[in-house]
Amino acid sequence: MPSVVAWIGLGSNLDDPRRQVNTALSELDRLPRSRVLGCSGLYRSAPMGPPDQPDYINAVASLRTALDAEALLDALQAIESAHRRVRGEHWGPRTLDLDMLLYGDAVIDTPRLVVPHPGIAERNFVLAPLAELDAGLSIPGAGMAGELYARLGDAGLARVGDAACPAAGRDTEVNE
Ligand code: AMP
Repeated sequence: MPSVVAWIGLGSNLDDPRRQVNTALSELDRLPRSRVLGCSGLYRSAPMGPPDQPDYINAVASLRTALDAEALLDALQAIESAHRRVRGEHWGPRTLDLDMLLYGDAVIDTPRLVVPHPGIAERNFVLAPLAELDAGLSIPGAGMAGELYARLGDAGLARVGDAACPAAGRDTEVNE
């Protein structure tokens, strides 16, 4: 099947963020016509915006997918919606953010979808996990993930463990 490698940014700061991120990784792996190729470690980052909220847990996954970009965005938003339900009863605050960082080498600019995701080059909590997976990854219009991260530095950021990666132990197609 024709397919591309998409790069997905994951973030959560509510309701057991590590679990939210790890669960989302396995949900990405179960998307139709898609499989997770690799996962970064888990990074704790200070929140952007108001300081009176908990730290975030961030990670990045690479995903081989035959979904087109719009269908992948639909799928990411469906996973986000499922995570918004807290304890099965109320619609809680947002517990999971999924961003389509890259979709192959595509440059997309529609009202719904902007790829590469705006802000990649200014966010070390995106660049650090991206560079961990592939420092030489080229971000169209911005540069290489590793170089951008080196320029930005690691202020407010700490790698706090490994993700539960669905690709772990697979001996085929990793990093293809
Ligand atoms: P946010 O609240 O930051 O998660 O933004 C969600 C909105 O961003 C949605 O309405 C999406 O249609 C839009 N969006 C634009 N580009 C992207 C992208 N690359 N990944 C995820 N959402 C995107």
